[in-house]
Amino acid sequence: MKAALLEEFNQPLNVTTTRDPVLPDDGVMVRVDTCGVCRSDWHGWKGTNPLIDRPHVPGHEFAGEVVAVGPACKHIRVGDRVTAPVIMGCGQCHTCRQGQLTICDTQHVIGFTGWGAFAELVAVPYADTNVVVLPDTMGYDVAAALGCRTTTAFAAVVDRAAVKAGETLAVHGCGGVGLSAVSIGAAVGATVIAVDIVEDKFKLAKEAGATHIVNAAKVDNVAEVIRELSGGGANASIEALGVTETFHNSLRCLAKFGRHVQIGQPLDEHAVPPLPLLETIYYRQLSVMGSRGLSAHRFPALFALIAAGRLDMQRLIKNRITLEQASDVFVQMNNHEDVGITLIESI
Ligand SMILES: [Zn+2]
Ligand SMILES: [Zn+2]
Repeated sequence: MKAALLEEFNQPLNVTTTRDPVLPDDGVMVRVDTCGVCRSDWHGWKGTNPLIDRPHVPGHEFAGEVVAVGPACKHIRVGDRVTAPVIMGCGQCHTCRQGQLTICDTQHVIGFTGWGAFAELVAVPYADTNVVVLPDTMGYDVAAALGCRTTTAFAAVVDRAAVKAGETLAVHGCGGVGLSAVSIGAAVGATVIAVDIVEDKFKLAKEAGATHIVNAAKVDNVAEVIRELSGGGANASIEALGVTETFHNSLRCLAKFGRHVQIGQPLDEHAVPPLPLLETIYYRQLSVMGSRGLSAHRFPALFALIAAGRLDMQRLIKNRITLEQASDVFVQMNNHEDVGITLIESI
């Protein structure tokens, strides 16, 4: 098959002909139509993801057509138009049987623990549990554009924070996943307060449905401003950066009984922030949650928001490229020059 091979970190991917992936007994083979390029792929390309073994094929935000089905896969057919979540549960363990696929101990992270979809073909294991059949009305571009950012944001806002119409949602950090959280919050009818420090992000946040914008670089106390804007505090708050300061802002901007959801991955010194346990969490009776990925069986609820016209993914697709151009996008990501969603098409 044709694929973009990661052979050397930080060097252009080698677009070449290589071996086809092996069809798992319980899996399917998908002919990739479209694949998103994500900052997680860039981390892998930089060499900071320990899961990656070279030579490697990146790519986890794919959509395409099933061309082969393993003998133990019962529910997916050749010809089905499909996508799949980046985190795939085994379907057999205790947590998977409870429907919590994103916390499976033996999860397959496509494009990281195995070869991904910057290729003509991608093998998807545990297919009955993880493959999502697309609605007839949904194009491969929209399915791929959901990527990990919109699905992660949906899980955080809808499933974890359980944000309802009329509530106030604060979103700290308006990068890809933060903007997606703004969009999902607006789609479910919340008042959304978006926080960042980069002026360029505010226009995007407003387009995504933010009601209020807070420039954290220009106010003394972000949490205080949000508490004033929301008349006493946000009902839910998303931290989308993985930074200690914004984590604290997120906790402190909440109303009593507020729900904090951590979707920014806290690394290095941010992995163990001091926790304002007594004044903030205990007295104010807050909930503090983490969220990562979205289980396949929840994709239809996300599709329903799109079908209802409450979430416009086409607006976010800014760049359509060939497989040969993927390396150029990684270079742009070095300088944070990438804007919106980039899709590899016509692989
Ligand atoms: Zn499992
Ligand atoms: Zn991704």
